[in-house]
Amino acid sequence: MHAMTEDKASPIKTDVLIIGAGPVGLFAVFELGLLDMKAHLVDILDKIGGQCAELYPEKPIYDIPGIPTITGKALVDQLMEQIRPFGPQFHLNEMVEKVERIGDPLFRATTNIGRVFEAKVIVVAAGGGSFQPKRPPINGIEPYEGTSVHYAVRRMEDFRDKRLLIVGGGDSALDWTLSLAPIASHLTLLHRRADFRAAPDSVNKMMALAGEGKIDLVLGQVTALEGDGGQLSKAIVKRTDGSEFHIACDVMLPFFGLTMKLGPVADWGLELKDELVPVDTEAFETNVPGIFAIGDINWYPGKLKLILSGFHEAALMAQKAHRYVYPDKRLVFQYTTSSTSLQRKLGVS
Ligand SMILES: Cc1cc2nc3c(=O)[nH]c(=O)nc-3n(C[C@H](O)[C@H](O)[C@H](O)COP(=O)(O)OP(=O)(O)OC[C@H]3O[C@@H](n4cnc5c(N)ncnc54)[C@H](O)[C@@H]3O)c2cc1C
Repeated sequence: MHAMTEDKASPIKTDVLIIGAGPVGLFAVFELGLLDMKAHLVDILDKIGGQCAELYPEKPIYDIPGIPTITGKALVDQLMEQIRPFGPQFHLNEMVEKVERIGDPLFRATTNIGRVFEAKVIVVAAGGGSFQPKRPPINGIEPYEGTSVHYAVRRMEDFRDKRLLIVGGGDSALDWTLSLAPIASHLTLLHRRADFRAAPDSVNKMMALAGEGKIDLVLGQVTALEGDGGQLSKAIVKRTDGSEFHIACDVMLPFFGLTMKLGPVADWGLELKDELVPVDTEAFETNVPGIFAIGDINWYPGKLKLILSGFHEAALMAQKAHRYVYPDKRLVFQYTTSSTSLQRKLGVS
């Protein structure tokens, strides 16, 4: 599913590139698939499902038509089941940075790791924008970012035999403390208070490690970093009583949660209105023909940021996208209930 092995220099050609694998991007695969259009999806997150998966996987949603109650995670699982017949290709942990028009319409999109797509249609389903890690408010942190300060763990091996400082009190901070403690030469977990917002089981395991002297658990806040040429050597930490001390470390991993920023969508030549992308309400197409915007990212008079609105937008988008992908084919409106041709595509007849 995660196409990491192909040659990144040669473009991946697809009918449609969907930017964002939130609920609306996922349902777009279904509507496009019924009309014979294949899609690749890119998402910055390491998981499928956008806000439902990242922000409220266990909360029940009560306003999905025909489903009285379903959690964020279960909705994403059901959408994945529904789109399986259309074989969507996912590229996670990747951000689409650039979108250029190279034909009529044909687009080239490039991700932050240099993967290139060529698509006849682009569907921006980027929700509230890109999820990005919240930066700790430490003056002078920039030179260390990417070398000694990391907001995500891509490869655990990078931290073997290092002195690690993990900062935060949520699930990410606790989970990485438990996973990295056995391979780090020394690990300190720093949180501003003794109250943790993580799963109780993780908190208990972390407390046990601290009790056995396998990690240091420290309460306080980082106020400054010291090091040379981007290589960290210590963090200056202030305790709640105002006293200061330092923690010797090679790497700092702050886990302060994620925030949503519009991000690169702003640079693709799309008209913007208050960080949203205005679209028409016939096809949810932007000011650039062939680029559509559906779900939370778009704006039109009366827009409601609801999942059900995004589903409706995906259906109408697909009708117009068909004209770009198959300019010579006439589209015949059909019901899934009665069309054997649609049922064949769904693998049910
Ligand atoms: C706590 C909470 C409760 C909610 N409850 C409800 C509810 O009960 N009912 C309801 O209808 N709605 C609810 N919502 C709103 C609902 O979650 C959103 O309307 C829905 O998630 C929008 O879906 P989307 O696919 O448009 O965007 P998102 O879910 O935001 O997904 C967009 C995805 O695009 C990705 N992305 C953005 N930019 C890029 C880029 N450049 N490259 C690659 N990927 C990118 C992001 O990482 C993200 O995963 C709730 C929201 C919250 C926060």
